[in-house]
Amino acid sequence: MTAKMHEANLMAGPWTDPDECAPIKEAVSGSCSQCGAAALARYPVLSADGWFEVVKCQTCLHSESRAPWNRLGWIVVPEVDV
Ligand SMILES: [Zn+2]
Repeated sequence: MTAKMHEANLMAGPWTDPDECAPIKEAVSGSCSQCGAAALARYPVLSADGWFEVVKCQTCLHSESRAPWNRLGWIVVPEVDV
């Protein structure tokens, strides 16, 4: 296998899909209680206390809600059935 082919194989991996890697911002209906903009989005953030899933106004960055998320963020430890 040539180096170029190897590179192509790496590029083909699912982990290079930007949609898989980018933080998922999910549009939330409703409007900001702070500035009134209908620009709410739900996405995970890492804070000093760990990961939180927040609903934030994308206009003024006011947090509408904040809830604990996966402890390890994107790394979800699968439940193992033994
Ligand atoms: Zn706002």
